[in-house]
Amino acid sequence: MRTIIKNAGLFDGSGSPVRPATVVVRGERIERIIEAGETIDPDAEDLVIDGTGRTLMPGMVEAHAHLSWPSSVEKIYHEFVLPPEEMKVATWRNARVLLDHGFTSAFSAGALGDTLEVELRGEIEAGITPGPRLRASTIERSPEGADGIETGKKLSIGEGVEGMRAFVRRCAENGIDTVKLVISGEDALLPGSSQHVLYSQEEVTAACEEAHGRGLRVAAHTQAAEAVKIALRAGVDVLYHCSYADDEALDMLEAARDRIFMGPAIGIIVATLEASPPPHIDMTSMKESAKPVIKNTAVLIPELKRRGVRVLPGGDYGFPFNPNGRNARDLEHFVTLYGYTQAEALVAATMLGGEIMGMGDELGQVRPGYLADLLLVDGDPTQDVRILQDKDRLTVIMKNGHLHKAPGGTAAAKAA
Ligand SMILES: [Zn+2]
Repeated sequence: MRTIIKNAGLFDGSGSPVRPATVVVRGERIERIIEAGETIDPDAEDLVIDGTGRTLMPGMVEAHAHLSWPSSVEKIYHEFVLPPEEMKVATWRNARVLLDHGFTSAFSAGALGDTLEVELRGEIEAGITPGPRLRASTIERSPEGADGIETGKKLSIGEGVEGMRAFVRRCAENGIDTVKLVISGEDALLPGSSQHVLYSQEEVTAACEEAHGRGLRVAAHTQAAEAVKIALRAGVDVLYHCSYADDEALDMLEAARDRIFMGPAIGIIVATLEASPPPHIDMTSMKESAKPVIKNTAVLIPELKRRGVRVLPGGDYGFPFNPNGRNARDLEHFVTLYGYTQAEALVAATMLGGEIMGMGDELGQVRPGYLADLLLVDGDPTQDVRILQDKDRLTVIMKNGHLHKAPGGTAAAKAA
């Protein structure tokens, strides 16, 4: 049995213009693309979906996911760290919410439990619970007592180079994919701390050696220019924020462009500025800290793009004022703040997304042999990426060839 999505406009993720095509899925992969003018005779058991007037595109990839940060468009929490059972319920819900909103893959930037995402990843892969393909992370590591990012329970395992090595080994034993280090502080949490460097070169280098030797990757929160440079010298794979990168850091980012990924995580910044919190919550200093990030990254990100650095959307969703499920807003921010064309923002969320997942040869594009992660969109997102923010316009959501969302009546008709 095949799934045939016919007569859609195809955006294949590479940046090529939308073209009319029919896509044939067999099992978990794309079997064929039938260009306009060619025909296909469906078998009786094939599922045929009419894509006329719609756009077929790769599933999106959230490159800075926090599925255990509890809030989503379906349920807002005003506490950040929930009791374990409730945290699990929220995390599992958030996985499904991301998939419902067109994100078929997620690269985690940190979790609130040691092995929470490993467990979730296993249940998603086994088909027990719906969610995106997941690169699992763990507690974000900052030094004990430092002005890093307080994410609840510390995965404390000693300090210094040996403590770092022990931490990474424990991550590997726990089955984590990505180790997340907090190399600089964060102004939104402690004003001025973005300029504080929390780990030495030796510590970060040791983390990368241990991680890479075990097939893990390292992602880092880096704001200060020196934190960016430490991360790059050490071999960190994914750098987030980089808001205070200087010219030397820019040159180093460019020199590493074939190896690294960068994510500004701008969604949280825009949401901070937009937020109108209740009177007992004071966001004044958070809002102040967001302004230079907007200003600096408006120069930094276009320059990184010009230099060929892979910059990806993904914006720290999971706070009450920036809930999971709004992740597609990041694409709009790339257009409005960073001068991306609509199609460039889509490429960053799809083709580059496949690459950050470590699966660029089989994920993130609509090509024969690639995994069938597909969205059939009511409208043309290459004309306006904002339509992806409306989940009702995602008429089909397919992951690994499996229909998470079928067009009205199709699944029922097939079962009959
Ligand atoms: Zn984050």
